[in-house]
Amino acid sequence: ADYVKGTGWQNHRIVPYAPISLDPAAIVFHYGQTVFEGLKAYRAKDDSIRLFRPEENFKRLNRSLDRLCMPQVDEEKAIEGLLELLKVEEEWVPKLEGNSLYIRPFVIATEAFLGVAPATTYQFYIILSPVGSYYEEGIHPVKILVENEFVRAVKGGTGGAKTAGNYASALKAQETATAQGYSQVMWLDGVERKYVEEVGSMNIFFKIDGEVITPAVNGSILEGITRKSIIELLAHWGTPVTERKISMEELAAAHASGKLEEVFGTGTAAVISPVGELNWNGKIMTVNEGKTGALSKKLYDTLTKIQLGDEEDALQWVTELTPS
Ligand code: PMP
Repeated sequence: ADYVKGTGWQNHRIVPYAPISLDPAAIVFHYGQTVFEGLKAYRAKDDSIRLFRPEENFKRLNRSLDRLCMPQVDEEKAIEGLLELLKVEEEWVPKLEGNSLYIRPFVIATEAFLGVAPATTYQFYIILSPVGSYYEEGIHPVKILVENEFVRAVKGGTGGAKTAGNYASALKAQETATAQGYSQVMWLDGVERKYVEEVGSMNIFFKIDGEVITPAVNGSILEGITRKSIIELLAHWGTPVTERKISMEELAAAHASGKLEEVFGTGTAAVISPVGELNWNGKIMTVNEGKTGALSKKLYDTLTKIQLGDEEDALQWVTELTPS
């Protein structure tokens, strides 16, 4: 769909995948006025197509749009449009368990303008891509490097929005971590480099002496939909998550006293990603002997079963595509 200030969104359409044409001076290119989302469609055993909490993605899209001075989208209409698109492209939702169709909605500023100001024209589009299983050989722990030099976002910045600039600022640290054999970086706060924020493309949880803790939403971390779901699921199970600040010193002390029981990341791509090792300034903290913890496994199994329709959707998270 296209947006023109004063007129609103128009020209809703489904077109074959192809390059789009933009003016070389489009605001998205120089000032990064762009936001996006990421969610997945799953194929259940009975062949039905299931979306995990799409309304949460479009709510977050609107929060990101607001932060970037971009126009809101109608959440219901966006989901309707997505369901229409999925009906057309149904064959691309993989049948093989573990595989899924990744859905990426974007809004970009298309107006050609050299001054720094919010655009008056935008384009909203959704692309789809089948993706393989995150875990080829079953769920397994990853190694994470705690980042001390670079920061992804600071309080008051755009860290809470799903916008390109946050990922651009992360590239340098990610490249270094990958070269050293780590799968992702763990970000610390940008002021004191003391408190844990999140991981490259995941939020992070710690189980310390029986208590599950995750950094509180503070304006600089991305409020993950998987994070939210894990918090709701654990509350449903009667074991509430503590959302608060957690420092690297506290983690190191918990590790030293044998109380750091589990660490796991949460995100659309991996669902749950157990962490087997944290490297903080060269200090290696092995978690749960580098193995997948019982809680991580249980959460992974439950969430993937709900997504695939193999377990009752007790919290009503799934939108099923009605067959045409
Ligand atoms: N943090 C960042 C920076 C991310 O890119 C993602 C992936 N969208 C997440 C956290 C996890 O969010 P979600 O659970 O909504 O995928």
